[in-house]
Amino acid sequence: MADLVSLGELLVDFTPRGVSENGNPLFERNPGGGPANLACAAAKLGADTAFLGKVGDDVFGRALRGILRDNGVDVSGLRLSPEHPTTLAFVHLAEDGDRSFSFYRHGGADTMLTPEELDKQAIETARVFFFSSVLMAEGPSRETSFAAAKLAKGAGATVVFDPNLRLNLWADPEDAKSCILQGIRYADILKVSEEEMTFLTGETEPEAGARRLAEEFGLKIVLLTLGAKGCLAYAAGQQMGEALLLRVGGFPADTIDTTGAGDSFTGGFISRLLKRGGNAGVYACDPEAFREDVRFANAVGSLTTTKKGGIPALPTLREVEEYLKTLVNVE
Ligand code: ADP
Repeated sequence: MADLVSLGELLVDFTPRGVSENGNPLFERNPGGGPANLACAAAKLGADTAFLGKVGDDVFGRALRGILRDNGVDVSGLRLSPEHPTTLAFVHLAEDGDRSFSFYRHGGADTMLTPEELDKQAIETARVFFFSSVLMAEGPSRETSFAAAKLAKGAGATVVFDPNLRLNLWADPEDAKSCILQGIRYADILKVSEEEMTFLTGETEPEAGARRLAEEFGLKIVLLTLGAKGCLAYAAGQQMGEALLLRVGGFPADTIDTTGAGDSFTGGFISRLLKRGGNAGVYACDPEAFREDVRFANAVGSLTTTKKGGIPALPTLREVEEYLKTLVNVE
């Protein structure tokens, strides 16, 4: 069974590819979905990884399954629906590389994953379980997400949660907030962006926000990613000992597309955590190990921004190691 099990959406991201001879915008068919990106990132970096989710039993769904397989991810827990189509998202890129989405998702296969369709054995035997809020926005997949997290937690896995907030998927922002807060209650490790931290806590200052989330939810680790600036990383102390709060500078890159940077960052971090046994408490007395693993994750995130798309842009372990040798951190 796999060390890392990632549950979530797997869909087609249509990314802009210029203009046709008729003057119409062209889109390229890319694989997408945060938890799928993360699974591929971790697998490519050497972690034994499985993906759980649902796609349509259609051309898109079968192609997506093939891509995950080609990236070394176990897809035996990926369901193919004969009734529901694969979810589609169109990505719009701003000039600075930042992205926004239009989703074609209502009734999409990813939202139709039921608790009965979960590969329970995979979850119960995983060392690390990852999930996010995108499956919580609509359909039976909301209940499925919480059922899976509960199962993982009960079986003693390290639970990692990334809100991956996409407000345009939610009818009501308050519903999004309450589902995300419920998700965090299962987590040992939380990955958040600055925007998500402010949405959840009302804080604007990263240090205060990270501490508040960690203390309120009893989290062992909070990774607050700061785009090109890197990450503010919190690790709880052992037995009421002092917590670690590190600013780990990012690596400047020739960024062309930030799709998947956060997912690959987290996949990279989990791959390192697994090498240390997978327990989220492992850094409590080891700030150097913590800094090293967050630095590694920053390098993975940075490299992912240098190519177009999510999964196609993911680096191999060798590429990350070579990159790290040539780098100087910036604050
Ligand atoms: P998310 O995609 O979840 O919003 P971030 O944008 O903060 O997450 O990116 C995650 C990580 O990827 C960052 O902590 C950083 O290490 C790296 N990263 C993101 N954007 C850039 C960039 N423009 N240049 C270099 N590294 C980046």
